[in-house]
Amino acid sequence: MALILDGKKLRDELLEKLKSELDGYSIMPKLVVILVGDNPASKLYVNNKQKTAEKLGIISEVLTYPDSVTEEELLLKINELNSDISVNAILVQLPLPKHINKYKIINAISPIKDVDGFTPENLGKLLSGEIPYVYPCTPKGIFLLLDKYGISVEGKHVVIVGRSNIVGKPLSAMMLNSNATVTICHSHTKNLKEITKTADILVSAVGRDLIKDDMVRNDAVVVDVGIFKDEFGKTRGDVDFANVSKQVEAISPVPGGVGPMTITSLMLNTVELYKFQNLKKL
Ligand code: NAP
Repeated sequence: MALILDGKKLRDELLEKLKSELDGYSIMPKLVVILVGDNPASKLYVNNKQKTAEKLGIISEVLTYPDSVTEEELLLKINELNSDISVNAILVQLPLPKHINKYKIINAISPIKDVDGFTPENLGKLLSGEIPYVYPCTPKGIFLLLDKYGISVEGKHVVIVGRSNIVGKPLSAMMLNSNATVTICHSHTKNLKEITKTADILVSAVGRDLIKDDMVRNDAVVVDVGIFKDEFGKTRGDVDFANVSKQVEAISPVPGGVGPMTITSLMLNTVELYKFQNLKKL
């Protein structure tokens, strides 16, 4: 049986540490989340983020807008939040309605308040090997999880399945910067199995039943980012956990692996931005 990369346990440890640090603050960091429309998954994510922030004492405000909101209205609000010194971190919950250009919206966030690390400045820093103000939450969470279990990526062949802007692409840059050899796969990749079998560390971020036991090596570390509901309404990941966990060296479960680490990273990022902004003022 594989070593389980336990994201819940690490979340509890890291958030407890963060809470004791925050207990000593006289002014609390503030995170503002912009939520557009009625997407139930987005509402759930935002609710979880808000609950976690509240437990830590981080001030969390959610600004909700109907689907009909215009790009101009959102841009005006972001500009306002950028210049509001009481706001340390801004998050725009994705996806946005089709009539809104998500790049325009994200690009408007000040890089020093960009808690997701998605602005061109932060992603550009990441690609060029410079340190961004913060690292994108899910890739950062994956690094924290691997680090907790003493799994180094240096010199390893890391295969990432999925090339999204929020997981696959930033993760590949972070892996490269940490001296891993990286292969990125996607829906056009031929012979996926032949590639995943060469992975020392396999990260799957797809959102469907994909990774079977014949696709991984026995000594591999498997990180499952995917989350979806199966036909019985059960939350599961991309990896056939029951069979793959019997043979690999280490594996992250779903739920309880990368998910809790993403939210933990969001809290850590909020506090990092707060500290950076306050240091700047001194
Ligand atoms: P996404 O934008 O949904 O994209 C999915 C990626 O998977 C795309 O790059 C797609 O390729 C690739 N793909 C689809 N079918 C494939 C196949 N048969 N073989 C190989 N690659 C395939 O990605 P995302 O937003 O990163 O989300 C991915 C999953 O992770 C979702 O289940 C999401 O809910 C979950 N997620 C979890 C967390 C967490 O905290 N645990 C955070 C973020 C996302 P193309 O580019 O060619 O279309």
